[in-house]
Amino acid sequence: MIYLDYNATAPMRPSVKRCVIEALDVSGNPSSIHSSGRRARAMVEKARGQIANSFGVRHENIIFTSGATEANTLALAGSKCRRVFVSGVEHHSVLEAVDHVEKIAVDQDGLVSPECLDTLLRHNGNSVLVSVMLANNETGVIQPIAELARIAHDYGALFHCDAVQAPGRIPLNMNDLGVDLMTLSAHKIGGPNGVGALFLAPGIEVASTMNGGGQERGRRGGTENVAAIAGFGAAAMYVNEMLNKAGQIGKLRDGMEQAILEQAPEVVIHGHKVPRLVNTSLFGVDGVSAETQVIALDLSGIAISSGSACSSGKVGPSHVLRAMGLSESMSASSIRVSIGVETKEEEITRFVDAWVSSLKMIKQQVDAA
Ligand code: PMP
Repeated sequence: MIYLDYNATAPMRPSVKRCVIEALDVSGNPSSIHSSGRRARAMVEKARGQIANSFGVRHENIIFTSGATEANTLALAGSKCRRVFVSGVEHHSVLEAVDHVEKIAVDQDGLVSPECLDTLLRHNGNSVLVSVMLANNETGVIQPIAELARIAHDYGALFHCDAVQAPGRIPLNMNDLGVDLMTLSAHKIGGPNGVGALFLAPGIEVASTMNGGGQERGRRGGTENVAAIAGFGAAAMYVNEMLNKAGQIGKLRDGMEQAILEQAPEVVIHGHKVPRLVNTSLFGVDGVSAETQVIALDLSGIAISSGSACSSGKVGPSHVLRAMGLSESMSASSIRVSIGVETKEEEITRFVDAWVSSLKMIKQQVDAA
């Protein structure tokens, strides 16, 4: 299998897997006072320290959750703001976190304009939360978060950032971004599925959405998933190594885009005019169904996705491309290739060949119908 779906989940690193297995041997509850409990607690706190160091956040301001979806809900619901503004290209876990989200429009490249945010906030009072993602999971487009957060703060609003797709691809430091709340997920950086975190800037608090045992300083009840958290910490240690390989990954992605444009000049690559994650490419040919392309490539042993894999099973046009003003047909015709540190040049070459063949085949079927 050639795996080109890193934005959905990055393969778990062998050393992370070893760390998870080791942690599974610790049977204590981190809240227990006996030595087994203390061993489990030590593993959770070691991971917290590793994550704190990697992302410029204080260890006491990290709340472990079951993933980014829960962290986004905790940020949007737990901040208890009267009004919540989110960009139209956010992940569904932000768009659907609370009932009262109001969408901020994006331009044709998928960017939130600072001027637009300024105007929006000027006419709105306090108790406002703004949530804009750092890098889009479908297009890879990178938002000017530091600038947007500064504008939000000028009007007394809180700023949350879903930074799930950024680590290891662009430098990521919560302090430098100047945001109040930030979400991460372990499985996008070679850690286990089902664990993530919400980070709080100093002085920021959230009301727990899960009550009970008072874990995570009363901000998220429930016994910690020790093995998954240990794996998250171990994966966070690799972020700089990943960053060092970003140039090499970018060359592979750019070479792939050049090759597909040469063989299919009608292809549209989304977001290529603005800053984008080096590993991500979302492209399509209008009228050539993304779902059919994904299935055809799967039969050739290549894993890619159509838009957001988190909504797999739910086939429809990408809401991200719709928000960028693309037609419904184009939004249902685009596939995402997302690569990572393990991706090899031969795999990209095989993908391009397989994609060109599948495109010809699907077009013939469409013409014959
Ligand atoms: N936000 C973004 C930008 C994502 O890409 C994803 C996963 N696709 C999530 C949130 C949800 O993450 P999790 O699977 O950890 O709940």
